[in-house]
Amino acid sequence: MTRSVFGERAARICAVVAAARTEDFRTQVKQASRESHTVELRLDWLANDRERHRALDWLKRSGPRKTLFIATCRRRIGGGEFVGGALEELFWLMKAKEAGCAWSDLEMETLRELPEQSVEGYAIPPKVLLSIHDFRRTPRSLSAPKLPKHGGVDAIKVAAMSQSLEDTLRVLRLARGSSQVVAIPMGEVGLPGRILALRAGSALVYAPIGEATAPGQVPLKDLRDLYRAHELTAKSQVFGVIGNPISHSLSPVMHNTGYVAARKDAVLLPFLVERLAAFIKAAPEFGLKGFCVTLPHKTAILRYLDDCDTLAAEIGAVNTVTVTRSGKLVGSNTDYIGVVRALEGKVKLKGSRVLLYGAGGAARAAAFAVAKAGAEVLVCARRDVTARQLARAVGGDLVRRAALRKERFDAILNATPIGMHPHEEDSPLRLDELNCSLVMDLIYRPLRTKLLRMAAKKGIRTVSGVEMFVAQGVVQWQHWMGTRAPEQAMRKAVLDKLQAEERRWR
Ligand code: NAP
Repeated sequence: MTRSVFGERAARICAVVAAARTEDFRTQVKQASRESHTVELRLDWLANDRERHRALDWLKRSGPRKTLFIATCRRRIGGGEFVGGALEELFWLMKAKEAGCAWSDLEMETLRELPEQSVEGYAIPPKVLLSIHDFRRTPRSLSAPKLPKHGGVDAIKVAAMSQSLEDTLRVLRLARGSSQVVAIPMGEVGLPGRILALRAGSALVYAPIGEATAPGQVPLKDLRDLYRAHELTAKSQVFGVIGNPISHSLSPVMHNTGYVAARKDAVLLPFLVERLAAFIKAAPEFGLKGFCVTLPHKTAILRYLDDCDTLAAEIGAVNTVTVTRSGKLVGSNTDYIGVVRALEGKVKLKGSRVLLYGAGGAARAAAFAVAKAGAEVLVCARRDVTARQLARAVGGDLVRRAALRKERFDAILNATPIGMHPHEEDSPLRLDELNCSLVMDLIYRPLRTKLLRMAAKKGIRTVSGVEMFVAQGVVQWQHWMGTRAPEQAMRKAVLDKLQAEERRWR
């Protein structure tokens, strides 16, 4: 790996301090310095010149001594918050030097406004990172940046908004083989590239301590502890989860926690995918070894596969794709096994009567799962035609909603989104329709849905969708890694995340 222009001791995950008030600035600087040896100070985020004076005075007097500080006072023209002109920006960078900052980050727009387009002669921090931002798009003409021969510039940063994975790859390619380039694909589409930037050769990656300062930034703790961006190398195995939307997916937290617990040199990244064809084209350059598939691509992915296991083909949905050594894409469905595992030991499926409420993708996986385990499958949905189709596919029957009150089942499974956050007070079924010994809700946001709460009140055993989610993830993990998954750690990571979310909703 090429040596960083920021020096031997510089941490490559740069913590970003961005606060409006000096008090918060101080708190963030202290925290940032504990978390990383390299810290960017966004002076433009401070509310006004008075706060900038106060913050830099404090830094000079009492700031951490061993930290490498990069001072930035980005103007509006360069995508920052600073309302002053180029000379005022330089004034604050000079103050930052007095306060002990070793590097300054200066926009291309500022350099262009200076006499002879040079910062030489200004008493700003001695090392200069010249930054080029495009917050709207990744320019088509993007080429490897060259350091200006004159102008006192030591490194270049290119940060461009990714609108496609091809954009992300174009930005990452800029960092290849250079120690002086910081490459940042921005936005949610660019997120996998941000995580892989250091592996691609970027000298730094930025991560906020507080609020995000650029679109698609990943909090420092996640970038370091969950994705381990600074440890990834060409040898690391890369996996993904694709979907649209994708930010809510718990697959990254579950799989990456599993890799850390089992000491695997692997990472799983979230890919926001609108067009499957474009993702399939870009996947090899990301070095993907496999990916999870979530809504809305579970059925559409089938046409891009080279092979698919019989069961997934029968269900008509794939949630797991493995990339073989020769680059072939092989599909399978672990939702199916997830349902079986979630019900294992809680209900004897062989010879039982199971009602599925809903007839969409998840219901299909569940229907095949319980039917293959020997249960009689009854399907009820708001449209009889889809319910009948699914029931027939697994040798079962349609049950009309009006008949539910008089029917008795061993288990009822909800496979509709009714009751999902933020509609926690909705239930897909009424109390008098819950005539069974077990209710499973495929929903896991919230963990205890209204349906499960109602069932429990009636003395019926309940199973949360989180059991299915973790079980399918564990099978996926083992499938790709070929070793036993650290199930406890993966389950805990998912539950912690869901419980933290629920605390925020309250
Ligand atoms: P889907 O393919 O869109 O199917 C949803 C089903 O629910 C369809 O039958 C739909 O009927 C029905 N439905 C939707 N809104 C309804 C309403 N207001 N009243 C009555 N029926 C309604 O979705 P999916 O992928 O099967 O997902 C279903 C649920 O399972 C989601 O909550 C999802 O989060 C959960 N899930 C959980 C896991 C897990 O691991 N635990 C895995 C996958 C999915 P129409 O066809 O008439 O629209």
